[in-house]
Amino acid sequence: MDLGIRGRRAIVCAASKGLGRGCAEALAGAGVELVINARGAEELEATAAALRDLHGVRVTAVAADITTADGRAAVLDACPEPDILVNNAGGPPPGLWSDWSRDDFIRAIDANMLSPIALMQAVLPGMMARGFGRVVNITSAAVKAPIPQLGLSNSARAGLTGFVAGTSRQVASKGVTINNLLPGIHATDRATALDQGVSKGEGISLDEARRRREATIPVRRYGTPEEFGATCAFLCSVHAGFIVGQNIVHDGGALNATL
Ligand code: NAP
Repeated sequence: MDLGIRGRRAIVCAASKGLGRGCAEALAGAGVELVINARGAEELEATAAALRDLHGVRVTAVAADITTADGRAAVLDACPEPDILVNNAGGPPPGLWSDWSRDDFIRAIDANMLSPIALMQAVLPGMMARGFGRVVNITSAAVKAPIPQLGLSNSARAGLTGFVAGTSRQVASKGVTINNLLPGIHATDRATALDQGVSKGEGISLDEARRRREATIPVRRYGTPEEFGATCAFLCSVHAGFIVGQNIVHDGGALNATL
């Protein structure tokens, strides 16, 4: 399917690996020019080079912490008028509800709520003026079904979800859509880190921790960044202009709910 976005410009945050990279790859495959971001310059440059080689599109790498004002300014400098914005950042650490301090909450809210909101506030006016825009926020299936040890993520992402619910309806008449894409478990370094926590906590091997988790997923495997990226690229396509303010779960059926 031609996604109809060849030659468009996209910012993909936190994209040197994992789900962000999956989104960047799928957009590059659709002919989109990219500004990709992560903190570590080396891996980011390698990803940019791979995307250029594979898809022949312009890819600019901006090494910066997207959760800081300076980091966001650097990314926006490299792409002041994006047609597409994919918001992403690392997830907060796991823990126990009784242990988190105000500072822990502020850090999580900064990274997973206020940073994507700041980027939307920066790019939405231009998208509306030009009559086309696509924003996809990578959040988490934990927004729909809380993961007990990820309470910081559950909380911060719920705030972002509320902002998107209202804002998406205020910009839609200008050809701009905002949606959230909610990953369940995907085979990335983040998933390995979570499995390592289970392995350590329960005294089982890493393989066993993964097998146990896979058994809870109806498709019996982890998702891939490629599948996730393809869904993101579709949401950024010309065909998705009627999908507004949705929270699309990408989890192999793991969320056991009728609606
Ligand atoms: P990942 O494989 O660990 O990749 C994270 C990417 O984000 C890396 O490129 C990393 O590069 C970059 N990054 C992290 N913090 C950043 C920051 N402050 N500024 C700029 N770049 C940053 O993680 P992932 O699995 O793709 O997860 C992406 C998001 O989806 C996370 O928020 C995670 O909580 C959420 N999620 C993932 C899953 C899953 O199963 N994988 C499930 C639910 C939710 P640098 O470290 O070099 O900055």
